[in-house]
Amino acid sequence: MDNYDIHDNTDDDFGYSLRPETLNEFIGQEKAKEQLRIHIDAVKSRRAAKSKRAAKSRDDVLEHVLLVGPPGLGKTTLAKIIANEFDTNFKQAIGPVMEQIHLSSTLASLEEGDILFIDEIHRMKPTIQESLYPVLEDFVLDLPLGQGPGSEVVQLPIAPFTLVGATTREGLLTGPFRSRLGIHIHLDYYTPEDIQQAIRINSAKLSIKIEEEAEFALALRARGTMRIANKLLANIRDYAQVKSGGVLTLEVVEEALKFFDIDEKGLNAQDYAYFRALIKNFNGRAGKKALAVALSEDERTISEVYEPHYIKEGFLSLTPSGRVATEAAYEYFGYPTSNQPSLFDV
Ligand code: ADP
Repeated sequence: MDNYDIHDNTDDDFGYSLRPETLNEFIGQEKAKEQLRIHIDAVKSRRAAKSKRAAKSRDDVLEHVLLVGPPGLGKTTLAKIIANEFDTNFKQAIGPVMEQIHLSSTLASLEEGDILFIDEIHRMKPTIQESLYPVLEDFVLDLPLGQGPGSEVVQLPIAPFTLVGATTREGLLTGPFRSRLGIHIHLDYYTPEDIQQAIRINSAKLSIKIEEEAEFALALRARGTMRIANKLLANIRDYAQVKSGGVLTLEVVEEALKFFDIDEKGLNAQDYAYFRALIKNFNGRAGKKALAVALSEDERTISEVYEPHYIKEGFLSLTPSGRVATEAAYEYFGYPTSNQPSLFDV
C-alpha cells in the first residue's frame, strides 16, 4: 500500500473530488467550523449593510486565516469552502517553491475578496514572508525597481483579498508573520465516528456497497485522518471488486486489511520498521536524523506525518535527548520492556 506522502494533495483516488464543498458538508471539527462560520457571517452582514456600489474596504473581506494541523485533516478543503462561501476565486500556491516573481504576479492578479491559499506556509523563504507584510496589512506590494543601494521602490496596490495559510508546524512561523494572520484555526484528528460518517457518505457517492460494521472497521484504521480514510476505501474497493464481487462486508474488509498489511490500529510495514529501528537499533532512544538515515526516509515526513500519530497513540515521547519509545510501544510491537529507556535518562 502507498505511503501517506506529506506532499500528496490530490483530491482523492477516485478520479473526481470527494471534497465537501460547504461548511455543513464538512464533517466534525465543530470548533473550527463554528469559528469560521462566525467570521464569515460577520463579513457577509457588513457587506450586506453597505450599498452595492461602495468599494470594498479591508473590513469587507475576511481577515487572513491560518489553518494548523497534520496533513490530510482538511486544511485545503476548508480553504476551498471559504472561497465557495463568498463565491470568489480560489488561487493556490505551495510555500517552499514560491519565488518572489511568482508571488508578485499572483498577488497582482487577485480580485477583491479572492482567496489565496498557501500550503506549507511555514516553509516559505524568509525574504518572501517579509515581502508579504505590507501586502497583508495594507494591500500594497513594494516592488524594487533596479538593483543595489540606489534602487527605487514602487508600491503596487493589491485588491483586498484573504490569505489562507496552512501549516503542519505553527511553531515554525515567525511571530510577525503569525500575528498578521488574524484568524487561527486548529484542526484535530477525527474520531472514528466522524470518519465512519465520511466513509458512509463517500461510499454512497461512489455507489460502493458497504456494511455498517465494515465502515467502522475501516474508520478505526484511518489514523484519525480523512485522507487516509479515502485512500483505504479506494484500495479496499479495488480488492473487493476483484475478490468478492464488490460488496464490502466486514469479512472482506478484514481480509483486505490483512492483504495490505494494515494492523488493527491502522499501522503498516513502515510503522513497524520505525519502531524496529528505534527499539532494536537504537535501544529505544534516537535522534530524528539517525532514524531518517536508518529508514531511508525524509526527516520531515518522519516528524510531520508519522510521529504525530505515534505520539497520539502513546507510543512515542519527544524529549530533549531524542525520540523515546514508550512502554506501550514495547508491548504493542512485541519487544521486552526490560530494555526500555527511562524518559529521564539523558
Ligand atoms: P490537508 O490540506 O489538511 O492536507 P485536505 O483538505 O487535502 O487535507 O483533505 C484530504 C482529503 O480528505 C480531501 O480530499 C477531502 O475529501 C477529505 N476531507 C478532509 N476533511 C474532511 C471532512 N471534514 N469531511 C469530509 N472529508 C474530508
